[in-house]
Amino acid sequence: AEQRFIARNPKSKAIYEKATESLPGGNTRSVLFYEPFPLSITSANGATLHSADGHAYTDLLGEYTAGVYGHSDPVIAQAIIETTKKGLNFGSHHEDEGRLAGLIKQRFPSIELMRFTNSGTEANLMALAAAKIATGKKKIVVFANGYHGGTFLFAGGKSSSINVPHEYLIATYNDLESVYELIRKPENKENVAAIIVEPMMGSGGCIPADRRFLEGLRKAADESKAVLIYDEVMTSRSHSGGGIQSQLPMELRPDLTSLGKYIGGGMSFGAFGGKRSIMDIFDPRHPDSIKHAGTFNNNVLTMAAGRVGLEQVFTPYRAQQLHATGDKLRQRLQDIGRGTLMKVTGVGSIMGIHFTRTVLEDIKSHKDIVDSDATLSNLLHLFLLDRGFYIARRGFIALSLALTESDLDGFAKTVQDFVTEHRQILG
Ligand code: PMP
Repeated sequence: AEQRFIARNPKSKAIYEKATESLPGGNTRSVLFYEPFPLSITSANGATLHSADGHAYTDLLGEYTAGVYGHSDPVIAQAIIETTKKGLNFGSHHEDEGRLAGLIKQRFPSIELMRFTNSGTEANLMALAAAKIATGKKKIVVFANGYHGGTFLFAGGKSSSINVPHEYLIATYNDLESVYELIRKPENKENVAAIIVEPMMGSGGCIPADRRFLEGLRKAADESKAVLIYDEVMTSRSHSGGGIQSQLPMELRPDLTSLGKYIGGGMSFGAFGGKRSIMDIFDPRHPDSIKHAGTFNNNVLTMAAGRVGLEQVFTPYRAQQLHATGDKLRQRLQDIGRGTLMKVTGVGSIMGIHFTRTVLEDIKSHKDIVDSDATLSNLLHLFLLDRGFYIARRGFIALSLALTESDLDGFAKTVQDFVTEHRQILG
């Protein structure tokens, strides 16, 4: 399969090799690299990607959830074009920032006040900073294999990647006991500033949180007087576009939420916000307010693209439809994998295809997939690319509004073909 991939993509190979001269490993975003070399995409429209070698791919990766609108949605493209005509980045307040914030508030009633950033990573940095300032404490409870951005990766239960100076307590996802064990230790008891959690672990394998786990985290945070932060950077699209927290009663919702991805209309974006009592520390009218800067925090392109995206394109109705479409596709893929080593997890339009070493009932935490079979994931990836379907190598999928029923049907049939052709090695 790899030989075939190499033979079909000589231009991508040449572009990649040229880039290795000036980028480490030819790469500036680790997640996009795969062996033998990543494809080079030259253009995209709707749900189709076109590669340098002239192949077309149906895009099921959806830019790791930031691409919910599909490529070049006409309403968003128009808003961006109109905005560029009026000048870029004024170094001043402007109307769209408040309008975008207002739209986000409607969808996330737990967010009373918010601030914008340029990425989800930065949103989480700021949310944690806010939690530390608000509590006067230092320690942060995180979950093994959780991902909150380039500076917050806890692969295999260790803080890896770029380690910012935070003191992390690493618990196990969907395991409340592991949280209590940490926060009740004498050395931690008085020192926990925040618990930060993805209500569906995204990069860590699209593992949904149990409802009882989320409810329990609220109580655990209250007990240790810590700020509960939901990282909904990926999951904000869920249900009617109000995130996974929209399924919880108000009193169980988080104190702070971080957002990003598609909410900027497909431009760089992040936001963090929540309780007024915490977010007020950023109010510049207060003499001792905390300075939160960022040249591009309110950049006019993102603000305009994000505003029309929420107002006109990813409406609550369409969000709900996409969520249901995702649930249906995942069900179908799960049925295809039944009794084999292929397992499909996720929530709504976000999902992950896993190849476990034994046939599992369910995937609850990183422990169930830590020993996954990367060879089978690679094989599926190459198989799908060969048939014109684009997903992440590790099996990550995020649907967009541009995908049609027939795209998804074709995809499911192709996965079925893969399972049939590889039945012997799939258990
Ligand atoms: N949090 C989560 C849950 C994410 O999935 C991501 C990005 N994949 C981030 C934070 C970081 O966002 P960004 O890439 O915009 O920095």
